[in-house]
Amino acid sequence: MKKKVVLYKKIPEEQLNRLKAHFELSCFEGINEQNRESFLGALAQAEGLIGASAPMPAAILDKASKLKAISTISVGTDRFDLDYLSARSVPLMHTPSVLTDTTADTIFMLMMCTARRAVELSNMVREGRWQASIGSEHFGVDVYGKTLGVVGMGRIGYALAKRAHLGFDMKINYFNRSANEKAEQELGARRTDLTTLLKTSDFVCVLVPLTLETEKMFAKAEFEIMHREAIFINGARGKVVNEADLIDALQNKTIRAAGLDVFEMEPLPGNSPLCRLDNAVLLPHTGSATLETRLKMARTAVDNLIAALNGDIAKNCANTHLIK
Ligand code: NAP
Repeated sequence: MKKKVVLYKKIPEEQLNRLKAHFELSCFEGINEQNRESFLGALAQAEGLIGASAPMPAAILDKASKLKAISTISVGTDRFDLDYLSARSVPLMHTPSVLTDTTADTIFMLMMCTARRAVELSNMVREGRWQASIGSEHFGVDVYGKTLGVVGMGRIGYALAKRAHLGFDMKINYFNRSANEKAEQELGARRTDLTTLLKTSDFVCVLVPLTLETEKMFAKAEFEIMHREAIFINGARGKVVNEADLIDALQNKTIRAAGLDVFEMEPLPGNSPLCRLDNAVLLPHTGSATLETRLKMARTAVDNLIAALNGDIAKNCANTHLIK
């Protein structure tokens, strides 16, 4: 008999067919008021759960008493309570590495767009407000040769630093709990405390996971330490930043600009003050959103679930201490 699995995100046809070949599948395209009851009903019978984006707190997963494995189509695991899953011995499989380069490209794009004011100036052209040769009030700032501060020098942080150092001759500072020797040896990266990084970096790019320790890691005090020409980029998770304090910092020009791929509330409400700020470049959580990478992520997540429900969690398990 096939194992029961619940899918709660639309995935490419080929991967959907693989899931159907292996499992008795219940499919949901996201979870909403209309389908919540039937989702919970299917979850109660499921041994496997696969999807992304929707929060899956203990209060929901308590209803899934037969659950043996979860596969999230993301590298971030913040939609889940890892301690709770570990206590239940339920592995949470995720998709590190396959999205690293695409996400680093997105973050670098945010650095370029904020520094060179690409969105603001593009809008000026589209709206017919380009009426003369532009002057200094529209100039941007250089990226090449500047100092990049990476907060969270892991897989994506390293890929970003590599682009910045090898391609743009940038100096690299980073803040991590442990040293990243590869970044130090290959990119000349310098590990500093957070205050030093904030004081000395022209770009501060955040790539830490969202945890109890990193929640609201950036607030008024941190923006005040950054210099007034510095640019803040968040490619991690919205809740790593106190968004109201960031809005104040952008409005008061405490910092020059911000590039944001993630927000406290997603989708970002259209009436957010961020939407009215020329010095904010906003993306709808598109870090890994290319055709190629989203395909790879879906394939990896399906591979992960098939393996985990066969008792193999050696590769891509986020609650690593479950691995024997
Ligand atoms: P990773 O390889 O695990 O890197 C995370 C880094 O953060 C590590 O170097 C870690 O080093 C550091 N870190 C963790 N907790 C910290 C703390 N309290 N203080 C300082 N540094 C800390 O993960 P990754 O694959 O690069 O992904 C990073 C995050 O990016 C994900 O968790 C996800 O939230 C986000 N992401 C966003 C998108 C998007 O679409 N925008 C796409 C992919 C990923 P230490 O352990 O030594 O501190």
